[in-house]
Amino acid sequence: MTVDLKSGSLYALLKRRGFIYPSFDIYGGVSGFYDYGPRGAALLRRLQEEWRKFFVVQEGFYEVETAEITPEEVFRASGHLDRFNDYLTRCTSCGASYRADNLIEELTGKEVRVEPAALNSELKKIRCPRCGGELADVEEFNLMFSTAVGPGGGKKSYLRPETAQGIFVNFPHLLREARGKLPFGVAQIGRGFRNEISPRQGLIRMREFHMAEGEFFFNPSAGRYPPFNGVQGEVLRLLPAGGEEAVLRTGEAVERGIIRSEYLAYFMVISKRFLEHIGLDGGRIRFRQHRKDEMAHYARDCWDGEVLTSLGWIEVVGIADRSAYDLSRHQDASGAKMEVLIPYDEPRRVRVRRLRPRMDVLGPLFRGKAKAVSQAMEALEVPEDFSGGDVILEVSGERLKVPEEAYEIQEVEEVVTGERIIPNVIEPSFGLDRIFAALLEHSVDVKEKEGEEYRVMHLPPWVAPLPVAVFPLLTRGGMVDIALQIARELREGGIEVFYDEAGSIGRRYARADEIGIPLAVTVDHRTAEDGTVTLRERDSTSQVRLPMKELEGVVGDYTRGCINWKDIKKRYPPQGG
Ligand code: AMP
Repeated sequence: MTVDLKSGSLYALLKRRGFIYPSFDIYGGVSGFYDYGPRGAALLRRLQEEWRKFFVVQEGFYEVETAEITPEEVFRASGHLDRFNDYLTRCTSCGASYRADNLIEELTGKEVRVEPAALNSELKKIRCPRCGGELADVEEFNLMFSTAVGPGGGKKSYLRPETAQGIFVNFPHLLREARGKLPFGVAQIGRGFRNEISPRQGLIRMREFHMAEGEFFFNPSAGRYPPFNGVQGEVLRLLPAGGEEAVLRTGEAVERGIIRSEYLAYFMVISKRFLEHIGLDGGRIRFRQHRKDEMAHYARDCWDGEVLTSLGWIEVVGIADRSAYDLSRHQDASGAKMEVLIPYDEPRRVRVRRLRPRMDVLGPLFRGKAKAVSQAMEALEVPEDFSGGDVILEVSGERLKVPEEAYEIQEVEEVVTGERIIPNVIEPSFGLDRIFAALLEHSVDVKEKEGEEYRVMHLPPWVAPLPVAVFPLLTRGGMVDIALQIARELREGGIEVFYDEAGSIGRRYARADEIGIPLAVTVDHRTAEDGTVTLRERDSTSQVRLPMKELEGVVGDYTRGCINWKDIKKRYPPQGG
């Protein structure tokens, strides 16, 4: 029997083995919510740790943790309040709600343009899957969960639908951290919340899920991105919008304009490397470019990293070119400067037009504020087409009108050291729950032993929920005491241990295999005599014998990927062989 996401058989296994449970299960559950059990929480944590190694350690992104509850003005500026919507249709008979594009795709297998006219026309051709009733025209449904902060109605706020805005609103602080220089990246791992219309796809569509996002800020005029040289030979499977699928070297894809920039392409390669590193099958990963009608409101271009599963291709990471959209919007809405000074190689002399205040007029007009007004006037750069008239200024939060007779226009020569720009952003945005689900499906293998079926999770040692199991072969002959001592020593060395003494050794191996534990130590009759134990590898089920004193080093090195099973077999050859 195959174990997969589509039939639900994988979920049954994951529930039984403590990976995930439907949230609020004892109350009947709420769709779109899952809890991670002990094995799942461990696997999820390791995925986060590996992601951190890629983006925070290797790419040097600053990691932040920002608030999940966010006041309305942030999402008004970011556009989420108006535009973070899906199209909803309701059954006119039973009232069931559906996300229109998903329902059409599910029932007809057709990809439909995500806009009202096209959706409505398709909806006329299908019926409510629950009762056969007619489906109403679409309405827009905002995906953000709203809440209120503080008593008495409180301040209208939302649970963040992405972690990114927490990074954008901190940009002035983060730029200081980067010593005012581009490029730099900022990473955040945390929950995102989306009130999905009718989530029925397990971990693929949740209402509260785990994201790992990077925002890479750069100057789009800076030209080439030097680290791109190191990845341009890497091959990507690409499905461009409106084009044919092609397997291309990344360098060629950029040269031919299929991927629009080295920055975007670079993070596509890093994303692919990450997905393969954590154990997804590289042969089932591709990048699909968004069509215009499916692009998020903030994106100028977007490539989804998709993984092939029993449910078809699913998006696990979106790599979006957000241009200067978010920072510009927050600058306009908050007044905070989101600009970076890009220094010229040499300072330049330029002629600019300035206002020269006439204090004899300003003084009597503005009295105590005259000095502040004159400073604000001097800081203004006068546009070419301005030839006089009232000037409106903001001084200490107050709007003031300065009449024409209070200034003169002068042309002066000034030295300028650089240009101020609002940086562009490339965003790799990973959905960890989808990666978790796809990874378990790619990793599971059904085996048969003595007429019984059992499953093996072939997870790489660095993401497996636990690195090692420790078993006494039997519960007699002092084997339990030695096994417990080994478990304690490994734990003291920082290695998590799965200890089990119940049932036959075969069943215990099978149980460890189903959880994905890569190594198992067994204490047997010989251990008390010579201090050696057996070490079994999950994937090959082959064993070596080694001194128990060496376990900590071997297990640690293996889990970190410093040595593999072949190295271990070489180091501990069969005795007499
Ligand atoms: P997006 O900002 O929509 O590109 O989402 C970023 C990533 O989050 C996607 O690539 C998905 O992997 C993941 N994601 C988005 N929506 C959901 C959801 N409802 N449930 C689980 N994962 C999601």
